[in-house]
Amino acid sequence: MKAVRFHEYGDVDVLRLEDVDVPEPGPGEALVRVRACAVNHVDLDMRNGTSRLPLTLPHTLGFEIAGEVAELGPGVSAVAVGDRVAPLYQIHCRECEWCARGEHMHCVRIRMLGVQSPGGYAEYALAPAWALIPLPDSLSFEQGASIQTTFGTVWHALVTRVGLDEGRWVLVNAAGSGVGTAGIQVAKLLGARVIASAGSDAKLERARDLGAEATVNYAEEDLAGRVRDVTGGRGVDVVMESVGGDVLAGSLAALAKDGSVVTVGAHGGEVVPVDVILLFRHQWSLIGSVRATADEIRRCVDMVAAGELHPVIHAALPLSEAREAHRILEAREQFGKVLLVP
Ligand SMILES: [Zn+2]
Repeated sequence: MKAVRFHEYGDVDVLRLEDVDVPEPGPGEALVRVRACAVNHVDLDMRNGTSRLPLTLPHTLGFEIAGEVAELGPGVSAVAVGDRVAPLYQIHCRECEWCARGEHMHCVRIRMLGVQSPGGYAEYALAPAWALIPLPDSLSFEQGASIQTTFGTVWHALVTRVGLDEGRWVLVNAAGSGVGTAGIQVAKLLGARVIASAGSDAKLERARDLGAEATVNYAEEDLAGRVRDVTGGRGVDVVMESVGGDVLAGSLAALAKDGSVVTVGAHGGEVVPVDVILLFRHQWSLIGSVRATADEIRRCVDMVAAGELHPVIHAALPLSEAREAHRILEAREQFGKVLLVP
């Protein structure tokens, strides 16, 4: 089969389209014919060697997959060849303290497709059969590969971690990212009022189409100042944050009293100064949020299938254009998800 792999860390040119053996499903496993695989920002970090994740080279990236079951290993009866599926991208152990509580993202023995095992930048990938989420016929494979890191992450952050209520003001940063496009939609679905921020006016125009009622171009405007203008000086109740650095600092300054910044990423800067006096006097909360539970992910798949949420797809490229897919993300040109369709 064809697979995109890298044998050394480096820039986009280390990605190579190669012929490799089709993997054989072991006991309890399914072989999935990959029809769509998301390209996520952390893939770029794994490729260039800065991810702090344990990889074995050569490595095949790609943890957000949708496809069809092609072959079953011994002892699998819950799925059948031909079923349309999306494997959970975090494979939890189902035994530890955190799994018992349903907090699968904290599993002490968690494994990720495309990290500890070969991922979906390939025509076939292996996954445990129990971890396959059925994809309703109303979902395309491209949509099926665009739910977990976007709607799953945002649902966990805004619903579970923050408890976002109707009528609240929400600032969604990086509006053109997968998380940003999902954040605007989930906040609107919950009845919140949305301000979107991004570094380009073209992305902000698209954010308005998704339901943002005001926008901030943080390349040109002061984030907190503009948010205070829009909200009559009050500030926002919640910030859906995924950038870090100056954008996270500006997000804290944009909060109303009792406001919360919920953060899921930090590619724009990992260490941010916090004025603790402002933090306690205004009763602000700075909340971390990581991935999602398996139940939240299944719920998001159902909501997309029901047409309540709509994955935004920027591009779907063949495996031979994996380098171009990485280039698009590195240049931050995308509005929504970039996918490979092997
Ligand atoms: Zn566990």
